[in-house]
Amino acid sequence: MTRCALCPRTPPDGQRLCTVHQNDLHRWLTEIPEQAALLAEEFVMPGGRPAAGRLGGTGRATAPVPVDLRVLVLLAPGRYDDDGPDDDGTAPIAAVLGAWAGHITYHHPAVHRDEYGTAHTVPCEHAAPRKDGRPRETITGWCAWLRAYLPAAVALDLAADFYRALDTLVRRLRHLTHTTPQQHPRAAPCPACDLCTLVRTDGHWHIHCLDCGHRMSPDEYQEHAAAYLATRNLPES
Ligand SMILES: [Zn+2]
Ligand SMILES: [Zn+2]
Repeated sequence: MTRCALCPRTPPDGQRLCTVHQNDLHRWLTEIPEQAALLAEEFVMPGGRPAAGRLGGTGRATAPVPVDLRVLVLLAPGRYDDDGPDDDGTAPIAAVLGAWAGHITYHHPAVHRDEYGTAHTVPCEHAAPRKDGRPRETITGWCAWLRAYLPAAVALDLAADFYRALDTLVRRLRHLTHTTPQQHPRAAPCPACDLCTLVRTDGHWHIHCLDCGHRMSPDEYQEHAAAYLATRNLPES
């Protein structure tokens, strides 16, 4: 049996990452656009204009930098050309995501299934997130594209590198926005592995298991919790 490229769990057939690590990717791809929006709000929008006249008079270049330049670079549009999906920490987020989309496309056969299970044949020369027929090479556009192609991403030889790249991005964003989604433990044990490791994460709809990666909707969890409590004759809390 093959192991997950990142831990001792067994991934689903043909994939390199276990469901726990796949869940992380799924959550991060939802979180990254939210974090980027926070960052833009916090650092770029307010007071985003240099104070007029600061350069005059003294002759010294003492004009305050209107925004944190690191943040501007992170949020900038951009593309890597031939350098591959390397990220030394200074690349625009959209470029890092786009480079990974390019890598996935290059290694992916021309058929994919969307999240509803419908098969689509797509050209594989390059990845192009689109909405309403318009190119959408933004952080949000790339994250949506990568979420749709997650089954292909986790089958890549470089799946663990993809995981680490997103991990790095998410950490960098959380550090800059001082915002980390909190996890709230659920009372009933996981129906798949029986451990008390179910959590709900802020901003995410699914309840998921930290240990085995099992995911369930809030309704499914409520049903499961009620059934669990009923078998134990415990008062529902
Ligand atoms: Zn794993
Ligand atoms: Zn579990």
